[in-house]
Amino acid sequence: MDTGAPRTQDDPLAQPAASLRGVGPERSAQLARLGIMTIGDLLVHRPRRYEDRRRFRTIAQLVLGEPASIRGTVVAQGLKRFRHGRQSVFECVLEDGTGRLHCRWWNLPFMQNCFQVGDDLLAFGKLVAAKPRTMDHPETEVIETGAENWLHLGRIVPVYPLTEGLPQRWLRGLIWRALEEFEGRIVEPWPRAVLSDLPTRAQALQHLHFPAQIADAEQARRRLALNEFVVLQAQMLRRRHNLAAHALGHPCAGDNRLIRPFLARLGFALTQSQTNVLRELRHDLGQSPPMRRLLQGDVGSGKTVVAACGALMALESGFTVVLMAPTEVLAEQHFRTFQQWFGPLGIRVDLQTGAYKTGTGRPAKAAGDRRLGENEAQGPEGVDARGRVQNPQLVVGTHALIADTFAVDNLGLVIIDEQHKFGVAQREKLLRKGHYPHLLVMTATPIPRTLGLTLYGDLDCSVIDQMPPGRGQVRTYVRGADHLPRVWEFVRGKLAAGSQAYVVYPLIEESGKVERKAVMAEFNRLAAALAPWKTGLLHGRLRPEEKESVLEAFRANAIQVLLATTVVEVGLDVPNATIMLIENAEQFGLAQLHQLRGRIGRGAQDAYCILVADLKTEEARQRLEVLAETTDGFRIAEADLRLRGPGDFLGRQQSGLPPLRFGDLTRDCSLIERARGIAAAGSAGGNCGIVGQAAVARACSAAW
Ligand code: ADP
Ligand code: MG
Repeated sequence: MDTGAPRTQDDPLAQPAASLRGVGPERSAQLARLGIMTIGDLLVHRPRRYEDRRRFRTIAQLVLGEPASIRGTVVAQGLKRFRHGRQSVFECVLEDGTGRLHCRWWNLPFMQNCFQVGDDLLAFGKLVAAKPRTMDHPETEVIETGAENWLHLGRIVPVYPLTEGLPQRWLRGLIWRALEEFEGRIVEPWPRAVLSDLPTRAQALQHLHFPAQIADAEQARRRLALNEFVVLQAQMLRRRHNLAAHALGHPCAGDNRLIRPFLARLGFALTQSQTNVLRELRHDLGQSPPMRRLLQGDVGSGKTVVAACGALMALESGFTVVLMAPTEVLAEQHFRTFQQWFGPLGIRVDLQTGAYKTGTGRPAKAAGDRRLGENEAQGPEGVDARGRVQNPQLVVGTHALIADTFAVDNLGLVIIDEQHKFGVAQREKLLRKGHYPHLLVMTATPIPRTLGLTLYGDLDCSVIDQMPPGRGQVRTYVRGADHLPRVWEFVRGKLAAGSQAYVVYPLIEESGKVERKAVMAEFNRLAAALAPWKTGLLHGRLRPEEKESVLEAFRANAIQVLLATTVVEVGLDVPNATIMLIENAEQFGLAQLHQLRGRIGRGAQDAYCILVADLKTEEARQRLEVLAETTDGFRIAEADLRLRGPGDFLGRQQSGLPPLRFGDLTRDCSLIERARGIAAAGSAGGNCGIVGQAAVARACSAAW
């Protein structure tokens, strides 16, 4: 990253780790496997844990199931092989005067070369049996008699991630020596006022490795995490600043000529919250620096109609609009909705999905003639030979919009629905289809503030915090699998009363395959059990026209029950469906269940979400009960983030998650806000902030 900061050559910590005494080619290759190339890398090699070796437990004091470390002498050891030598267990017996401890390693015969009878050994692990006292696969360290023992004993000791052949003690010694040699040359980028309660960088590195108290190590982590967050925030602010200063987009706030008739015909009035967001959109769209806005609103809060109004503003100004959705099912639905909304206004709506991408550069099929013959040579009207669509119009699509074969003229606004399903790179790629088009991204996954600031810190944020009026209540129940017969009876009752139901079945589609057999078996069973009501099947691997016809039948109430995988998670809007039955609900994340539940409760009738789960533990039940207790997406998201961590929370698809070594998105909220302040003060230029620009640049230049 070019920050205009001092070049790394001037930085003593940028020297190769191999320049340290005692690091030969073999050690240097091992360090490289841990990602340690420079002295700076070495100093931020974060301990996996700390061990308090000021006082050991005796072997007699060990408690079943509790991790602890002890110190003892090897009194016996031996390897046993069994299953014709294919399997083995190596056992080493330690004695400390209070008792004996058996340490076992399964199928690691080379362990017999690690110790000798008489060795003084540290072992860390959990007692798995009390008679005799036994630990399986404990972590061990042989205490050698030597000058450096003060480093490995009698203090809080760091335990590092290692790689094969690299001894814990050696690495600890190396880091100690590196700190001693370089501590005085670690530059502090920030003034005292910014640090306030946190240690300096030099102190932090010292305490990270050799804390006097465990609390010191945590303070050190916070200090280094702050550094990471400042770098991230500064990047985002710089991106924004560059955009505002240099990017000349197209003002396209419109003149109400289309929005007025659109709203008059809509059939409902916008909520106050929706209207407020529209005001923000109009303001941004009217400017020349392109809009970068995130629209957050819980499932069912009515983001689509807001997007439609935004699109109309750009269309009124003569610009084309592109709307991207993460699934074919949702793209098709949007296509249909927008056709109904915009058709009467004389606006053309096209669809561009994988299924309709011919690969010849024809981007989209026009509304109304989507089932064109195979040998049809000419693109739909309005598409020229280079595959460009004529303006102004709306193109709805999936990832296919990003493909190189797709191009648009005169792109004024890009809208991305369910943004959390896309990565930042995809967003950027779509934006490059035009010349600084405006951007509106929408998400129904309520993002806890910490994550939001980190992932979307470069966007302005609008929130719809109000549900449209006249919605029925959604009740949520958590039931064990043994309740299924009663659950089905309840569902049949509701079907008889004219409702429709989703039944969601957990199948992993990301691996590219659906377990077709399992889903077909379930489908046949369900269809038979629910007759005479008709059941349809929807999963991600169906052909697009199959998906479409199933959904069409469900919308038209020609089928009453839709057995589906999580393809129905995003966006679907069928107001007459009031039952959501989710089987094996324990396999889903809370935020995902909340999204699924968002498919119901879209009409005036009351709706029911039934989570059928394997409730083996009280914990599993409590987790699902969060959903029964609240419909507040933000509370659910926060609980989910806490329970699963940011990686799982966002899912594999979210590629925007920054690689953090010290920062923890689940609990460093205050640090992130602080980092934002520091970065903002720095990028404000001059010395008006608490930190000068140079200081932030310096902080950013250190990759760590
Ligand atoms: P989401 O925010 O989850 O994308 P949608 O945009 O799909 O929600 O809206 C959910 C439903 O609510 C749709 O059927 C939509 O037409 C309807 N809707 C949106 N805004 C209003 C409103 N102001 N009054 C009544 N119904 C509304
Ligand atoms: Mg939606």
